[in-house]
Amino acid sequence: MAIYQYNIEMRLLCVLVICTLSAIAQDGVLARVQAHAERFGAISRQIWETPELGFHEVKSSALLRDELRASGFTIADAVAGMPTAFTATWGSGKPVIAMLGEFDALPALSQKDVAHQEPVTAGAPGHGCGHNLLGSASALAAVAVKEEMQARGLKGTIRYYGTPAEEGGGGKIYMVHAGLFRDVDVVLSWHPGDANRVDLRSMLAINGAKFKFYGIASHAAAAPDRGRSALDGALLMLHAIEMLREHVPQETRMHYIISNGGSAPNVVPAFAEVNLVARHPESGTLDAIWQRILKCAQAGALATETRVEVEQSTSYANVLPNDALTALVSRNMRKAGGYQYSPDERKFAEEIRKTFQDAKPLPGPDQILADTSEGSGMASTDVGDVSWNVPTVGFTAATYAPGTSAHSWQAAAQAGTNIGRQGMLVAARTLALSAVDLMENPNAIDAAKTSFEKRKAGRVWTTHIAAGSEPPLNYRE
Ligand SMILES: [Zn+2]
Repeated sequence: MAIYQYNIEMRLLCVLVICTLSAIAQDGVLARVQAHAERFGAISRQIWETPELGFHEVKSSALLRDELRASGFTIADAVAGMPTAFTATWGSGKPVIAMLGEFDALPALSQKDVAHQEPVTAGAPGHGCGHNLLGSASALAAVAVKEEMQARGLKGTIRYYGTPAEEGGGGKIYMVHAGLFRDVDVVLSWHPGDANRVDLRSMLAINGAKFKFYGIASHAAAAPDRGRSALDGALLMLHAIEMLREHVPQETRMHYIISNGGSAPNVVPAFAEVNLVARHPESGTLDAIWQRILKCAQAGALATETRVEVEQSTSYANVLPNDALTALVSRNMRKAGGYQYSPDERKFAEEIRKTFQDAKPLPGPDQILADTSEGSGMASTDVGDVSWNVPTVGFTAATYAPGTSAHSWQAAAQAGTNIGRQGMLVAARTLALSAVDLMENPNAIDAAKTSFEKRKAGRVWTTHIAAGSEPPLNYRE
């Protein structure tokens, strides 16, 4: 009887051990994300408290870099001519799975973590695009994946890319030019948003330049005939742009400011500057439209007898979606799950939503929106340039209350709260599960490469940023 009892107990114990082991194998990486959640949440908050503009993210970049180094990653610092760009690598050989991390802030979006508009310092930068969460979640996922690879003897390389100046400086483009993505099999990326969402939507290609008009100064009343107005050249260019607007494809976006319109009304302006960007869902179409924009500038200069110089600024390709990777990330995001607001978070989210013009009901952070809808988001990112070179997938996680617009004080406020950090964890879990999935399944990587070639359809990556050109480290000046 005693022996019989013993056998049953042993068998029960064995079943329990086997169940526990398989549970660890299944969500081992999720437990590892959870184990580091608080530390990386604190890092995201520290970056939020020290908002730094593109290419000047000295403290933010160092925080993430040092954390990854301490976690056993090998650092390549100040890569591709950018002091705040780095890579952190662990492991060796194939496959090479990359995670993208951004950490730059936006000008004039300084904001406290409160549900009304109140800057920490008026006019100072702020994390209105949630890049403090973006860079931290990807680093958290990279550390969890490294530990999982170590524990289970998974072969391959996990690499974090610290990519500066997403908001206009295009750090990733210089990293592509430097060949830093050449050995990468798959790039996993995410962005803070108002929903947990993955689909096949792209982002717009963008091209921008400063149009510098040079004329002749003279007394605007006493000798206007001797002057040639640079401002007239700029205005005529913009009039032509407004006429062009009717004759370009519907989805085109053209926006500009007159960044310099002269110094005094009684002086015929010898210098004027237009800062213009244009966008379209396809880089190729945008290139054709850009040629017509250049003609508008030449027309302005010709008619006013001024001279125009074009100084290239932004140039991002559209994002190339990847069907196989979108399916893989959808599956893993469902496994990763969303989150529920605590009573305090719910109250905060509701307070934020009251500040919107039109706060219609939208899916909450507990929901996962995964489908195969196509089309284009109406913003742009230098992830686009990466996506034309390596199979790339992106998704958003609910770091903001539903309906929150990026680049707003509401987004900047929430990026510093626990709502932001909960969304950041959805992202980290999804990234980590997807990376392990890819490491375990060479077929999934083959499928990603097939989808990549199919979407490219023989086209190649083009950019207005020439290979070998210096990163515009002071592009905001
Ligand atoms: Zn952003």
